[in-house]
Amino acid sequence: MIDWSALNDAYGPADAIPEMIERAVYGDQNAIDDLWHHLCHQGTITSASIAALPRLADIAENPSSGEWALDLAGGIAAGLLQRHHGADEEVARQGPVLARLRTTATARLAPGLPEPAYLGLLRSLLAFEGRPLWHTALDDFADAFYTVVCPHCRASVTIAIGQYGCYSSLRDWDLGDIHQVPLRPNRPDNLTGAGQALHDLAERDGQTRLAWGLTYLFGRAECPDCGSLFEIAEEYEAGNAPSPWDFGRSHARDTP
Ligand SMILES: [Zn+2]
Repeated sequence: MIDWSALNDAYGPADAIPEMIERAVYGDQNAIDDLWHHLCHQGTITSASIAALPRLADIAENPSSGEWALDLAGGIAAGLLQRHHGADEEVARQGPVLARLRTTATARLAPGLPEPAYLGLLRSLLAFEGRPLWHTALDDFADAFYTVVCPHCRASVTIAIGQYGCYSSLRDWDLGDIHQVPLRPNRPDNLTGAGQALHDLAERDGQTRLAWGLTYLFGRAECPDCGSLFEIAEEYEAGNAPSPWDFGRSHARDTP
């Protein structure tokens, strides 16, 4: 048994969490909203968020009513990966639970889901897989923007992928996106790694806009300042990946 009064959520002692969860199981939307506030408040993770994961994993396995639990567990998993929560041991103990959540999310990814639901599910899956970078970067590509640093001249380059265009530019707060240069999307059969895996899923499940956007995100851009070509995803990763636990790897990239 979990002693919830000994745990904290975002607002203080977590006594109310079990009751909120049970109300949420019966479809109470207010309880679901309250759980988000208490367990995943702006991505802040507490001891109660971690303790709630096994119960959320149980609920998520119900295909007709478990969607909210899978979403919330995805938010908590993403928070675990992004922040110093000082609870590495508790997190390590949740390994089997995260594996179950991974299985549940994988089984739910299927053709015919509405775009937002599909994207949410895929982002949760990436969080359960321990991949905070692509969890954060994945977008519906309606109007996506990424900021990357040109590896050659260090200019800050804005990448746009969406219905208003796919280009690299230098963002000027007064003038907008100036010096726009069209992006060079990758060929689907040329994708590798995360780009290939995500694109394959999106294509399999008929998520055409997601599949389309991924060929740009995992394609190349021309720096509007110095004219050199670079891989967008690679530079995005270089600028955003250094999570607290993999400093060693990120430093290698900073050496010219
Ligand atoms: Zn440049």
